This record gives sequence, structure tokens and C-alpha cells, in this order.
Amino acid sequence: MDKKKLNGYRDRLIAERDVLMGVVGRNEDYGREADIDATQDPADKASNSYTKELLFTQSTNDRIILIQIDEALERIEDDEFGICLNCGNEIGAKRLEALPWVRYCITCQDMHEKGLLNIEE
Ligand SMILES: [Zn+2]
Repeated sequence: MDKKKLNGYRDRLIAERDVLMGVVGRNEDYGREADIDATQDPADKASNSYTKELLFTQSTNDRIILIQIDEALERIEDDEFGICLNCGNEIGAKRLEALPWVRYCITCQDMHEKGLLNIEE
């Protein structure tokens, strides 16, 4: 992959990381506020913990993407960006455009989702 393209992906990854880090921070703040605002009404309490659970799940997904973004940035440094971690083939350009932090080519991702790929997460 040429340098210019690679730099473009790097910029996008860094920008995406900044956005996600902002989101993670905000959700954690919101979770704390929800705690303070909690009333003694059991119905309110239930919906409050549901909201917190939802926020927690959201931040967990964000954290997973953050890890994948960091890994992708490392792969750029190591000159391995855009290469499927499983089969070593190039990941399609369209796929990288959409999700520059993906680890696998579409074929391996498909197998992974079906549980057919034997790899450690
Ligand atoms: Zn692959």
C-alpha cells in the first residue's frame, strides 16, 4: 500500500480514536450522574440500572473498537496494515474504507462469525 493511502488511514484511525475516547469518557460521567440522581422508587431504580447497563455495554463495544484501532495503528507502523490476520491476504479496499480497523478479510470474518475460525481473540 502506498504511503499516501496509509497516512490517510492513519489519520482516520486517530480521528476515530479521539471520537471514541470522548464517547467513553462521557458515558462514564453519565453513569456516575445517574447514580447521584437515583431515587428510592423501585421502578425508577430499575430503569436507572437498565440505563447504566446499556451505557456499560456501549462503552464495552467502544473499548473493543479502541483496542482494534490501536492494533491497526501498530500494523501501520509494522507495515502490515490491510493484511488479514488469519490468511495473510489483502483486505478489500472497500472494507478498509468502511472500517479501517478490521482484522480479517471478508472471507475470514464470515468464518469467524460462524465460529469456524480457530483463533484467539
Ligand atoms: Zn483472511
